[in-house]
Amino acid sequence: MRNGSTAGGAPRIAIIGAGLAGLACARRLKAAGADPVVFEKSRGVGGRVATRRTRDGWRFDHGAQFITARSDPFRTALERGEAGGTLKAWRPAAAAGDLSGEGSLAEARADGGGTGETRYVGAPAMNSFIKPYADGLDLRLERRAVSVRRDGGRWLLETAPEPYSSEGAAEEGGAQGAVEPYDVVICAAPAPQAAALARDAAPDLSRALASVRMSPCWAVMIGFGTRYEPGFDAWRSGEGGLSWICRNASKPGRDQHRDGWVVHASPDWSLRFLEADADAVLNDMIAMFRTALPGPLPDIDYARAHRWRYALTTAPLGAPYAEDASGRFFAIGDWCLGARVEFAFQSGDGLGAALAARLQEMR
Ligand SMILES: Cc1cc2nc3c(=O)[nH]c(=O)nc-3n(C[C@H](O)[C@H](O)[C@H](O)COP(=O)(O)OP(=O)(O)OC[C@H]3O[C@@H](n4cnc5c(N)ncnc54)[C@H](O)[C@@H]3O)c2cc1C
Repeated sequence: MRNGSTAGGAPRIAIIGAGLAGLACARRLKAAGADPVVFEKSRGVGGRVATRRTRDGWRFDHGAQFITARSDPFRTALERGEAGGTLKAWRPAAAAGDLSGEGSLAEARADGGGTGETRYVGAPAMNSFIKPYADGLDLRLERRAVSVRRDGGRWLLETAPEPYSSEGAAEEGGAQGAVEPYDVVICAAPAPQAAALARDAAPDLSRALASVRMSPCWAVMIGFGTRYEPGFDAWRSGEGGLSWICRNASKPGRDQHRDGWVVHASPDWSLRFLEADADAVLNDMIAMFRTALPGPLPDIDYARAHRWRYALTTAPLGAPYAEDASGRFFAIGDWCLGARVEFAFQSGDGLGAALAARLQEMR
């Protein structure tokens, strides 16, 4: 048995990140007889395929807005989700106008309806579609990977609890940090975070990831006291400060009595105000929303800004996964191939399949 391997001789595999890339990879490996451990720093799975739940009952899909499939394996995965009820087709009402005079839903259709593709959303929340991927896995939530060090032919992975309890308050005491040996480490975090984790253990891989570019996105969630009727459910623009406006309740499976809207700032605007105070960003984005759209806004019951520091890939790696010279340290994620959920699946599933074929020789 290799040092650090499981009793049955299967390599010990750690996956860092429970977004779709990490979970799709884990599922493939599990199906091949491995038992990967998945570490996720946040309280749930799905990563950027996310829904914010507030204490007073608002729900906002503040990350990925919809999912499309252009490859057969992912189409099959979406069909499975639709059959299981965790994914539903979304048909937003057409946009009546836009902020810049260009764009609008007609442009959004280039990603969806206009090409005949079905736009899907997770139901009742965006990550509902991803949750089944975690079934039966050894998943460690609220556990952040802090460092990876090489130790002979294996890796020492240091993890630490996130300092927030499930109530969002600072945790007193609680779980301690841990260092555990693994034969294989797969980093499924956004490229800059993966590069940082790989810096000491796999410097070549870390350097290769430096070519990847990801743009940020400020997202604002707004809950209106009464229904707002601008004449559309979804709007998109390639110009100006805002890039996306969407009525959350237009998505199937959402609470129809709550008029929540999600607004995304453009990549340029988000980059310009990347380090700005969240409240200042919130005020500025509501002001842009107010100026651009017809009629007065209803009273606002809830409003928050969320910063996605690594939101959308602008320069991908150009390969489905990155691998270091040892063949035992990998990095995966949408950023390997592009800026869509489908790419996260292709990357994770692709590495999972490749590694499954190599499990025997790793024993
Ligand atoms: C605002 C926004 C809008 C988008 N809109 C769309 C859209 O409409 N359609 C579409 O197809 N795509 C969209 N995307 C892109 C889509 O969300 C991503 O392509 C996809 O979710 C990436 O999945 P992933 O598994 O590669 O990464 P992620 O989902 O980012 O998962 C990475 C996971 O790693 C975890 N992690 C990171 N570091 C550590 C650590 N040190 N220890 C433990 N865990 C760690 C994170 O918490 C996260 O859960 C959007 C993204 C954003 C942010």
